[in-house]
Amino acid sequence: MAKVIAVFNQKGGVGKTTTNVNLTACLAKKGKKILVIDIDPQGNTTSGFGINKNDVENSIYDSIINGLDIKKVIVNTDIENLYLVPSNVELAGAEIELTKKQDRELTLRNVIKDIRNDYDYIFIDCPPSLGLLTINSLVAVDSVLIPIQCEYYALEGVSQLMDTIRLVKKSLNPDLEIEGVVLSMFDGRTNLSIQVVDEVKKYFKGKVYTTIIPRNVRLAEAPSYGLPVIDYDPKSRGAEAYMELAEEFLEYVEVN
Ligand code: ADP
Ligand code: MG
Repeated sequence: MAKVIAVFNQKGGVGKTTTNVNLTACLAKKGKKILVIDIDPQGNTTSGFGINKNDVENSIYDSIINGLDIKKVIVNTDIENLYLVPSNVELAGAEIELTKKQDRELTLRNVIKDIRNDYDYIFIDCPPSLGLLTINSLVAVDSVLIPIQCEYYALEGVSQLMDTIRLVKKSLNPDLEIEGVVLSMFDGRTNLSIQVVDEVKKYFKGKVYTTIIPRNVRLAEAPSYGLPVIDYDPKSRGAEAYMELAEEFLEYVEVN
């Protein structure tokens, strides 16, 4: 049965999509069978895997709102072992349409329940908000992976993020856990980055991955080629870091 994980932080631009695309690509290279669900209307994860988001036949919207079997939405990517449920701007309307539905927080959990046996890991890329799509993700998963950018105000919004996790745990998903915290866009030349690492480690005691993702231009370039960095430039520091993170992720996930 797949472990289902949401990449979650309501702040935009912290490295959710970059982490989702690159960590899952590395896990797939290591032989794990992965499904990535893009639930952000921006569809950056979808295009990050080289899939044209305006050209897909079905998207996550069709499953969430119209009840289409998710198996009819899943597409192959160019990466062996890695499958994708695409998203596009159509999903923006789902936030409002969901409010009218019964069990509106449970929709995604129900949508994926029949495919959990088909994968080793299912990753969900959350939008940068605390709306119903994000709540649906937190209700559907076993754990959350939280990327935090090594920047000013890194911890800003983190208490709100933790409150949301607590609330979901208390009401709809008592088993929800923090999978781990990924520090991202680290710049070793600045004291600021080093301070942020310390602060985040203090806050999330024992939950922060040792692997830190550096700021690396290859990571920013790769999506415009529709490739994860491990295929775009396997020797780059960004590729090495995400491969290391994949190893650490597996070590951790397998003992817990
Ligand atoms: P989010 O999904 O949280 O909004 P993204 O992963 O899209 O964040 O990252 C925001 C921007 O920063 C993107 O343009 C992305 O290419 C870039 N970026 C993310 N991580 C890195 C990194 N480690 N080094 C350089 N650029 C990065
Ligand atoms: Mg994103």
